[in-house]
Amino acid sequence: MAHAARMGDAGTVSDNGSEHFDVLIVGAGISGVGGAYHLSQQCPDKTFVMIETMDGFGGTWKTHTYPGIRSDSDLYTFGYRFKPWTGPPIATADEILTYMGEVIDDNDLDRHIRYNHTITAATWSTDNRRWTLEVTRTDTGEQATFTGDFLWMCQGYYRHSRGYTPEWEGMDRFEGQIVHPQTWPDDLDYTDKQVVVIGSGATAATLIPAMADECGHVTMLQRSPTFFVARPNSNEMADTLRELDIPEEWTHEIVRRKILHDQAAVIELSFEYPDMVREELYKGIRDILGEDFDVSPHFTPAYRPWQQRLALIPDGDLFHTIAAGDASVVTDEIVEFTETGIQLKSGDHLEADIIITATGFELSVLGDIEFSIDGEPLVFSDTVGYRGMMFTGVPNMAWIFGYFRASWTLRADLIADLVCRLLKHMDELGASVATPVLRDEDADMELLPWLDSENFNPGYLMRAMHLLPSQGSNEPWRHTQDYWADREALPVADLDDGALVYD
Ligand SMILES: Cc1cc2nc3c(=O)[nH]c(=O)nc-3n(C[C@H](O)[C@H](O)[C@H](O)COP(=O)(O)OP(=O)(O)OC[C@H]3O[C@@H](n4cnc5c(N)ncnc54)[C@H](O)[C@@H]3O)c2cc1C
Repeated sequence: MAHAARMGDAGTVSDNGSEHFDVLIVGAGISGVGGAYHLSQQCPDKTFVMIETMDGFGGTWKTHTYPGIRSDSDLYTFGYRFKPWTGPPIATADEILTYMGEVIDDNDLDRHIRYNHTITAATWSTDNRRWTLEVTRTDTGEQATFTGDFLWMCQGYYRHSRGYTPEWEGMDRFEGQIVHPQTWPDDLDYTDKQVVVIGSGATAATLIPAMADECGHVTMLQRSPTFFVARPNSNEMADTLRELDIPEEWTHEIVRRKILHDQAAVIELSFEYPDMVREELYKGIRDILGEDFDVSPHFTPAYRPWQQRLALIPDGDLFHTIAAGDASVVTDEIVEFTETGIQLKSGDHLEADIIITATGFELSVLGDIEFSIDGEPLVFSDTVGYRGMMFTGVPNMAWIFGYFRASWTLRADLIADLVCRLLKHMDELGASVATPVLRDEDADMELLPWLDSENFNPGYLMRAMHLLPSQGSNEPWRHTQDYWADREALPVADLDDGALVYD
């Protein structure tokens, strides 16, 4: 590369206009912004850029604008390790965006972000020892090229441009409006309308109380139930510590530890005494809907508690809405859409003016970017994950894939530490390339799906598991999704165990 202008600490521009950085970060969601923070703190000499297709930061919290949009896990653990959370545990998208905005402002990260830049292709060249990203500007249509020594994928796991809607018979016949929460129309008027929300996940549980006051009636139509935890949207320990004027940094850390400690206990109980945990969860619902409320069949999932993240229902709002008669739940199967609603297998018909398909996401592997290595297309599903963050045969690339049962960001912080440690280690070794490679001792290792379907079974993951890498049955190839194990193992992970080959 012709070495031209040095742009402060921002990188270098070559004669052909491409910009070079030590690290290229893909995405300015909670993972990308966290990654940028850790990099700037732990590797202050590295130049980096965050490349983001949207016109602002936030990722998930910018894309989703449906009524009531909020987190389903608490912000003491969904928030970063390094930035105290001072609001109620369950936060709205706006509150999360404000929090992320403060991280960006406080750490002067904005100058590193290129908005309106969609990465379409990523190419590794062994000769040049670098990645080249082909980028299209969404605002001007211009093409741009970025090169970087290390590629840090923080692109999340689902397609932001559209959600997943199954094909049902008769959808084109329905005379009302069909809306997916991920592409919520700003002008959707649901005043006095009969609304059916298809789905039983956190999105449905959020939408229903947020819409119910204005709708004529809202029905949650689910094929199978989900576990919910109804809890006040406050944290007693945080409130007490604040009363005692304890510094917010301490409060954040203490409350985080307490929540993680309690979660570990619930997970253990869910494995050992699932029936007891079930009963506790049902009790929380009956406390709101009345002792005599029959939780079956609407709130009694077939799976074990904690096989999916337990969605927190702040102040039990979903259940209060049901108790008030403004919303109801139907557990049934869809036969077809009709002109006026949905025909169910039981023979019932649900009348609807608006049908909301809260039916999940489309998994997008590696941000819909075409990857190639030395001219060969990368088949991601042929690779094996190294500690759930790098991939065999893919040099200098890491992906932040957070937790699905615990808060995503807990893993984003841990992986960021490991990426920074790896970058420093490479500098110490004088190496410019690190590639995960299976060792002789790994030859007979069993290869397993990226996620264990026994423990994680959301539809969007199950539908697309064949597109994801494998994990191995031995270290360092396992991807356990176990925060409590990772927080011990990752900070002391041996980067010289032969699984990473340096050059
Ligand atoms: C409605 C909703 C609620 C959720 N609530 C929780 C919760 O409470 N707790 C929890 O732990 N998890 C939750 N999750 C999961 C959530 O997605 C993650 O926790 C987290 O926000 C993911 O952050 P991320 O930065 O890794 O990815 P994302 O938020 O998906 O951000 C990725 C960014 O990369 C950009 N990008 C992708 N591809 C490209 C490309 N080719 N070129 C340029 N830019 C690109 C995207 O535009 C986006 O801004 C929720 C998910 C949803 C959808």
